[in-house]
Amino acid sequence: MSEAPARLSLQEITRIYDGIKVVDRLSLDVEAGVVICLLGPSGCGKSTSLRIAAGVERQSSGRVLLGGRVISDEHCHAPPETRSVGLMFQEFALFPHLSVAENVAFGLGPDENRADRVRELLARVGLARFGDKYPHQLSGGEQQRVALARALAPRPHVMLMDEPFSGLDKRLRDEIRDETLAILKDEGAAVLLVTHEPEEAMRMADQIALMREGRIVQVASPYNIYNTPVDLEAAAFFSELNVISSRVHGAQTDTPFGLFLAPGHEDGAWVDIAIRPQHLRIDFDRGGQGPAPSVEHGVWARGHVTRARFMGGESLVELRMDHDGRVLKAAVSGVFLPAPGTPLWLALRRDRCFVFPGRGPRHDG
Ligand code: ADP
Ligand code: MG
Repeated sequence: MSEAPARLSLQEITRIYDGIKVVDRLSLDVEAGVVICLLGPSGCGKSTSLRIAAGVERQSSGRVLLGGRVISDEHCHAPPETRSVGLMFQEFALFPHLSVAENVAFGLGPDENRADRVRELLARVGLARFGDKYPHQLSGGEQQRVALARALAPRPHVMLMDEPFSGLDKRLRDEIRDETLAILKDEGAAVLLVTHEPEEAMRMADQIALMREGRIVQVASPYNIYNTPVDLEAAAFFSELNVISSRVHGAQTDTPFGLFLAPGHEDGAWVDIAIRPQHLRIDFDRGGQGPAPSVEHGVWARGHVTRARFMGGESLVELRMDHDGRVLKAAVSGVFLPAPGTPLWLALRRDRCFVFPGRGPRHDG
């Protein structure tokens, strides 16, 4: 039984500017009803990839397919308006001299039942009574919703969105993200959304494609990319990290927190054990020995509090470790603000530690 082809398929896309590969053999499939976030730091080639998918720019090599049909390769290049693709960019770029309803109707052909579709979409984005207003009479969030309605009006098979929420203030953003996601899911489009913010990708994406220097380094669900990152840089993209350097002996490595498995690393090699502040455990000093070792946490090690800050949902506690003077950060949910100098015991959630090839001991403690 053959499966339906992906709505949008980028295959081995490369884009060269002035001799530099800003997109480097990028391959990605986006299925109907699925949101994929292209996530990466500024300048890594996200917008270029999206413009190539839209057809407003042409790749140096590689091909673009829609519904299994080649729409751009070395021989052919379908223009953007023929691609059944909805576009939403950072600047909403509504037409200032057109009303809200006229903006939404803009992409619809004359033969379509325009008034009905416009009414339906404005109701969908919560702007049923705004049809006669003009863009300058709307807030940023309302403008964003008009732009969404306009992009969705012709029922595109694919939605391409480039940092569409970055113009909104932070409090509004989460609400609009959730609303937008619900509408996109309802419409069943294949969505490729570009962002440089990991929180946005975690919130919106079914799958995150993590990009670095023109390449995709990992594609995974938000849960998996957070909990099984491919390398130290990928891990560090999603949160602060504690990094402990250690040497390998017999496929394991001995640390003040006990032994860790380091399969695939050679004897004598350095590894970096990375752990998020959320995955450190803290316990009070009871009797001076610390809590008993366990399978989940291994050996506990002692440190002294250097700083503790309340961050809202959680507290961030920094400790200087007795054994090597290194400072580690632990996030504790709720309010936990021990005074500087307080002795505390620390352990690592062992199933949440990542062991990566290392470059040797750091001098950052
Ligand atoms: P991102 O969206 O991830 O921030 P872009 O795709 O916009 O990255 O840009 C990737 C790289 O390509 C950057 O170094 C940028 O300066 C370069 N670039 C983008 N567009 C052009 C262009 N038209 N001409 C030359 N270089 C470009
Ligand atoms: Mg960009």
